Amino acid sequence: MPVEICGYPDLEEITGNSNFPSEQRRAKGKYVIIECYQEIPCNPCETICNKNAIKVGSPITNLPVYISDQCNGCGVCIAVCPGQAIFVVEENYEKKRDLVGFPYEYLPLPEKGQTVPAVNRAGEVVCEGIVERIITAKSMDKTNVVYLSVPRGMGNIVRSIKNRKSSSYEHVDNMPVSAPAVETIEKTRPEDAIVCRCEEVTVQDVYDAIEDGAIDVRGVKIRTRAGMGLCQGKSCEKQIQKIISQKTGAAPETILPDKKRPPVRAIDVYSMMRNRNEKD
Ligand code: SF4
Ligand code: SF4
Repeated sequence: MPVEICGYPDLEEITGNSNFPSEQRRAKGKYVIIECYQEIPCNPCETICNKNAIKVGSPITNLPVYISDQCNGCGVCIAVCPGQAIFVVEENYEKKRDLVGFPYEYLPLPEKGQTVPAVNRAGEVVCEGIVERIITAKSMDKTNVVYLSVPRGMGNIVRSIKNRKSSSYEHVDNMPVSAPAVETIEKTRPEDAIVCRCEEVTVQDVYDAIEDGAIDVRGVKIRTRAGMGLCQGKSCEKQIQKIISQKTGAAPETILPDKKRPPVRAIDVYSMMRNRNEKD
């Protein structure tokens, strides 16, 4: 399923993207994978990188361009990305193992040396991983970075670890220690793909909403909460329109988007008073 529908790219989209480093560059060590596909006004990845290895430029809605030859794989850009779209990968980190670094905002944090269930972009457990490093700092504003070593070939498939409360932890000994065939991984149930990441709404939830009578984005929103999270529908609105279009046969341009309500920012009383006095 393409990224516009399910919200995350498949392996083909990653390796076919112009940001994907050449084989030569990948052989040199850590590199970055940027899974950012929405043209939103955002550029902290560009400003944080002191190697100028990521370019957004102007307008700020440009998709980031990765200049892999300038990147030293420091991983500073991982925690700064509000979309949690940046990953560091090192192929052949150890004999028979790759390394993958990803943002991690759950508690409790895993422990160094711990063997954990590693999940793919769809949240499915695909192999075991060993926690190699955890980077956490006040300046990272509660976004920790976890580095996991995984079986060779899994560096661009593993994207996180299963929540520690999951019963998968009890079965970690039974997990594959070598990379499963890609066909196995791609047997994801497409309906379980997340459409709205803020509110964890799946494709199936949208199908159910349509079944229940939703014919536009607002109809899906009031039944599922899709679009009510922090990003206010920036990443899911178009996907929901496409799903409604596919399910109902209506042309996408006839499916009404949601009404926009800009986020409210807290304002102190002094600023309100000053504004009022200036008007007087
Ligand atoms: S890993 Fe470091 S050098 Fe590479 S793009 Fe990110 S911040 Fe820049
Ligand atoms: S910081 Fe993340 S979401 Fe923002 S442009 Fe860069 S990669 Fe995309």
